Amino acid sequence: MKKKRILIVGGVAGGASCAARARRLSEEAEIVVFERGPHVSFANCGLPYYVGDVIKEEEYLLVANPELFKSRFNIDIRIQHEVVAVERKACTIRVRDLKTDTLKDESYDALVLSPGAVPVRPPLPGIDLSGIFVLRTIPDSRQIREWIRSRNARRAVIVGGGFIGLEMAENFLRRGVSVTIMEMLPQVMPPLDPEMAVIVQDHLSAQGVSLRLEDAVTGFEQKADGTITVRSRSGAEIAADLVILSIGVRPEVGLAKEAGLEIGAQGGIRVDEKMRTSDPQIWAVGDAVEVKDVVTGQWALIPLAGPANRQGRIAADVICGRESSFRGVQATSVCGVLGLTIATTGANEKSLLNAGLEYEKIYLHPGHHVGYYPGARPISIKLIFSPRDGRVLGMQAVGQEGVEKRVDVVAMAIQKKSTVFDLEEAELCYAPQFGAAKDPVNIAGMIASNIMRGDAPLAHWEDVGDTGALILDVRGYEEFRRGHVEGAVNIPLGELRSRMAELPRDREVWVYCGVGQRSYYATRAMLQYGFKMRNLSGGFQTFVSVSR
Ligand code: FAD
Repeated sequence: MKKKRILIVGGVAGGASCAARARRLSEEAEIVVFERGPHVSFANCGLPYYVGDVIKEEEYLLVANPELFKSRFNIDIRIQHEVVAVERKACTIRVRDLKTDTLKDESYDALVLSPGAVPVRPPLPGIDLSGIFVLRTIPDSRQIREWIRSRNARRAVIVGGGFIGLEMAENFLRRGVSVTIMEMLPQVMPPLDPEMAVIVQDHLSAQGVSLRLEDAVTGFEQKADGTITVRSRSGAEIAADLVILSIGVRPEVGLAKEAGLEIGAQGGIRVDEKMRTSDPQIWAVGDAVEVKDVVTGQWALIPLAGPANRQGRIAADVICGRESSFRGVQATSVCGVLGLTIATTGANEKSLLNAGLEYEKIYLHPGHHVGYYPGARPISIKLIFSPRDGRVLGMQAVGQEGVEKRVDVVAMAIQKKSTVFDLEEAELCYAPQFGAAKDPVNIAGMIASNIMRGDAPLAHWEDVGDTGALILDVRGYEEFRRGHVEGAVNIPLGELRSRMAELPRDREVWVYCGVGQRSYYATRAMLQYGFKMRNLSGGFQTFVSVSR
């Protein structure tokens, strides 16, 4: 019987996992991976840390090499080989050997495309000047390192405040290079909603990063000494020794488009849940494909390593005759910047509004472990859920410790279509140095469940302006004196029962405290005395973010 020939385009996250999985399922298949670059299966996620010299040696970024693929898996890896065309009728691809500049046709029984995504380089004046970099490959990171060393670079401008921009900011500061981040949007980290991004922005500023929000770059100019002047829409001119463009990535779909494969509305290769393209003999995975968002049901481009790896495995499974399916994406992600962790999963408010879906949200700021054990750090959490059935839709969390483990728990809850009642009941690890008997995930579930059951009616800060309600602050006098909501009446929680005659019964009372806990106690007590109470979600801490 003829051996099945599986050809794979792209030999990093999606491509390499697909190849290795295919071999584990079939010893007979012939598996060949074509990789345009000089490396296969390298750690692109580690590149910012190589620039920052946290990862000291380039070789640590090489997870595997062609020799290892050959000896361990009997997989033929051809680096510096670019696939330039797909001939679907003949089931062949045309491959250029970049070392010899020769072309060769290769036939396939199954073809997998995992070409990734290219960093966006807008056609701005001066965009091709030396000293302006993107970061996608090991050679990119080597060039940036070398540029910093040889020019003794001291000032960097990072264009774009997403994951890679923030990771680069941290690594430049680590190397003594000052950082200006220019971001066209009014916030950094697009997966966060604006009021959560404020926490990150404050942190960046406190750590010495110069942040220019709502300011788009309009062009670059280079002086004779190599200094780059970065011009912006606001008229600013910022001098830099180097510039990083991290304004997002675009799926690399040239090959697929020319082959006539279906491209979706988001610009990615359209695949089904088997990772199959519009051609039944061609699969596509990773940053180049668009897939369904499990929460909104909309097509999405989610350039993350986890989905790319899983999709690679699934494509291999299906090619080798298994019934695996991709469940869809929920964009679970984490980013560390200068001691702060930012993690998200599922939908944010922006995407739910876009999709026209109904949602409710709560904010909380619990410690990452019990307060009595030294070193507790607050985590700011936003949990979004369906007011119909309590299904968890999304979570955003920002803090210094224990952030990603809470988001990971909720990520699993979202994947399993769990509700806030499940979060309330989740049995999670606890010892004083790790968490609390009521873990932040439980507390988020309890707050949301209280709302679902009608035990603690909720109000949002953005609605305060329109309300005729009395705003009640139940914090202590000293806390109130340090800062409060304009027009709020201050009755500390301990005095509330004895002073309830001061509260109106004919209109609503919207109550807040520091983070929402004392106001919850006040809400529960006063509801039982017949007052029309609402708890302002997230307390004064959320008010400060929302009102900025
Ligand atoms: P890639 O891993 O990019 O591989 C595609 C490969 O295909 C490339 O090597 C390319 O040279 C090759 N190729 C393209 N066209 C051809 C062709 N025609 N012929 C031959 N070869 C071709 N994700 C996370 O989840 N967490 C992180 O912390 C994280 N950090 C990141 C940091 C950086 C600096 C970068 C750049 C990315 C990061 N990512 C992170 C994203 C993650 O690396 C990608 O989502 C993932 O690598 C996508 O896998 P892929 O197989 O689709 O593409």
